[in-house]
Amino acid sequence: MLRVLVPAFLFIATLLSLVLFLPSASAVQYYKEQTDFTETKVPTSGFTWSDSLHVCIFKQAGVPNSYYAWAKLAVQEWRQALREYTGDQQGWTMTARYSPSELQMGGCNVRVHIYNTYKDFPEYPRQTGAYTAVQYTGGDAESANVYLSPQVLHGDGKTEIKLPNYAFRNSAVHEMGHVLGLGHMGTEKGYLMSPVFDYFEHSDQLPITTLELSALVGLYGTDGFERTISIL
Ligand SMILES: [Zn+2]
Repeated sequence: MLRVLVPAFLFIATLLSLVLFLPSASAVQYYKEQTDFTETKVPTSGFTWSDSLHVCIFKQAGVPNSYYAWAKLAVQEWRQALREYTGDQQGWTMTARYSPSELQMGGCNVRVHIYNTYKDFPEYPRQTGAYTAVQYTGGDAESANVYLSPQVLHGDGKTEIKLPNYAFRNSAVHEMGHVLGLGHMGTEKGYLMSPVFDYFEHSDQLPITTLELSALVGLYGTDGFERTISIL
């Protein structure tokens, strides 16, 4: 009897789990469960935003429109992932718009600059790949600048690399992770917030996972960037 009952029970359990978990699992689109547990926490950078993020994206003449679209998509991916993960569909306000010049980015607290080459980065030659600079006082972020380019310098210091599209997209999402307050993982590569993205090992960008999202919920709670101050 037992030999029959046990498989029957397992069968029912499997059916139930399919019915119970498939709909919610398939509804999640913007993030994945963490699968690599070598590290269980993303370090944070010591600042938070207390207001919505308004992102202006500037691209130099000669940079194809698709790079602008991918930078905008990176902002949307974080917003949607945070909304999906926390269930707060109204919070986590992040807007992104095109800015025709770097002088017209004043209305934005986050400014993304896409240059034809890393050689145009303000911090070149110290910075030869995508980077982010955040200005903050006492833990409150005031503004951020993100510098991206389809053309970067290899770690060897001399080989110029034209990034495959997915590698550029990955670095846009990675840099927006820095903007939100995430630091680098200790593991050199393999995580979204690893300092290195090895595009020989990965043929697509790395997903935002529960690892990064739980770190952000640790910083902001589940209700987004805005702080409500009650005056009693
Ligand atoms: Zn980084």
